Formats: sequence, C-alpha cells, structure tokens
Amino acid sequence: MSAVWVEDEAAEAAEAAAANRNKELKIERETHKLEKRLCRQMGQAIMDFNMIEEGDRVMVCMSGGKDSYGMLDILLKMQQRAPINFEIVAVNLDQKQPGFPDHILPEYLAKLGVEFHIETQDTYSIVKKNIPEGKTMCSLCSRLRRGILYNVARKLKCNKLALGHHRDDMLQTFFLNMFFGGKLKGMPPKLTSDNGEFVVIRPLAYVAEKDLIRWAAHRQFPIIPCSLCGSQTNLQRVQIGNMLRDWEKQYPGRAETMFTALQNVVPSHLMDHSKHDFKAIRPTGVEDENGDKAFDEEEFPAPALPSLSGLPSVQVVTL
Ligand code: SF4
Repeated sequence: MSAVWVEDEAAEAAEAAAANRNKELKIERETHKLEKRLCRQMGQAIMDFNMIEEGDRVMVCMSGGKDSYGMLDILLKMQQRAPINFEIVAVNLDQKQPGFPDHILPEYLAKLGVEFHIETQDTYSIVKKNIPEGKTMCSLCSRLRRGILYNVARKLKCNKLALGHHRDDMLQTFFLNMFFGGKLKGMPPKLTSDNGEFVVIRPLAYVAEKDLIRWAAHRQFPIIPCSLCGSQTNLQRVQIGNMLRDWEKQYPGRAETMFTALQNVVPSHLMDHSKHDFKAIRPTGVEDENGDKAFDEEEFPAPALPSLSGLPSVQVVTL
C-alpha cells in the first residue's frame, strides 16, 4: 500500500517538474520572440526614417523610466549588428528632485560599459520658485530640460538626440492635438530640434508600450519612479491614454490600424489648403481610382466576428 503511495507521489512530482519545465520553455520562447520583435521594429524605424547614419554620435536621453532603458538596451544590440559605425552616449539629467536616487543610473551605465554622462542641474528649485503651488510644473520643467540637453549634446559633440517615445505616446499625442489643439499633428519619428542644431530621433516609434513593459520586467531594469517631483499628472494625456486602452480592449488591433493611418495621409481628402490646392481643381478627363466617389460609402475589411462557439446551432431556411 505504502509503495503505491510513494509511486504516486513520485509520479506527481515528475509531472509537476515537467509542467514547470514546459512553462519555463514557453516563457523563454516568448521572451526570445519579444526580443526579436523589438529589434526588428527598431531596425525598421531606423531604416524607414534614415534615423542613424555613418559617423553619427547619438545622445541617448535616459530618464530612468522603462522606455529609455528599453531604448538604450535595444539600441546597443542594434549597434553591434549595424552595417554602419555610430557612437552612443547615454545622458541623464539629474534635476535634483527630492529623493532622486542619483546612484542608480551611473551604476547601471558603468556596469553596461557604455559611454555616459550625468548632468546635474537643480531645475527643481527653479520650477518650484516660479510655478504657484498646485499648478502643473511640467511645461517649464521640460523647457528647462530641453535647453540643458542641447548644451550637453553640444559639449559631448553629439549630432543626434534619441528620445524614448514609443508608438502609444505618438498616438496619444496625435489625439491630444486633435481633441485639445484642433490640429492633425502627431509626434515625429525624426525632426530637426527647435533650435535647428540637432536631429531628434525616436527609435521606438514602431514599438508598443506593452512590449516595453514586458521587456523591462524581463531585463529587471532599475526603474526610477517618475513622480518624485510631486507634479500633477497631465490629466488630458491620462484621459487619452485610457481611451486608447479601452478601444484596444474592445476592438483588438485598433491601435495598430490607427498607427498605420498616421503613415497613410491623403491630403486631397482632408481640408488643409496648404497641403492641397483645392482652388485649382478642374476636371482632368482621366479616370482616377482616388477621385471622388459621390455617394459611395468607403469600404473597409469586415471587423472580426465574435466567436460562434457556444451559440445554439442555427438552422438555415431557404425562402
Ligand atoms: S513630472 Fe516632474 S520631472 Fe517630469 S516633467 Fe513634470 S515637473 Fe518635470
């Protein structure tokens, strides 16, 4: 009797070990797929927008958040396999927010072996002094930060600034501009800085935030919380973020479709006179697939139908 019990226990333990191993293998496979996707998406964005060229010295702006850690991590992988030579300098601005753990980034970057620079400037006090209590400090804070980062880039002889905004930041910005600014305007993957001196790039442009969250957990980045300054969060951005997440939950794939739309602009079907010369429009005498279709509705691929499993069987009746 006891032998049977022992045998059962051993079999159970073997089964549990096998299940654990399968689980581990599945996680390994998923992580490998995630890494490949992150590299592919960053590589594609770099190529599509010619973000990085031979001889570039790229200043990678590190905030200590998951996105900038992910950007640096993947960019370093890309640097090893890139067909061109370029340099990376990681830069963090220590703005002297109370409680900022100023040892975390230097320790992490030194261990990584990447060239880095920590710029310490007490913008926190300036912002506190100039913004009344209870008002959001972010716009002055980011203006000061921008100026400092340009100075640092100049000092470090960098020609490009890489920022860690991802696909979802870009979509949020697009909707913020449309809902609150009355503009069809997103966040560019590559643009000249406002002082005309540098090129700003966003190598995570094609990367979804959920992938960066998973990557940060896998790599165990030492994340520094972003609420140290005690500033109020941008409520409009939070609202838009929630709206996009709800849409994605209800209609999976919608974020991807909207992101594709940002790359497929049809100025003749909008109303911006500076992008299309509406006044000069005349008949051409030539058929054009993109011409006006009068009352025809636009046609779109059918949305995915809910699964029919579980529904009572339906009898088809021919009338
Ligand atoms: S959250 Fe704080 S540190 Fe970040 S931009 Fe706003 S004021 Fe500056």
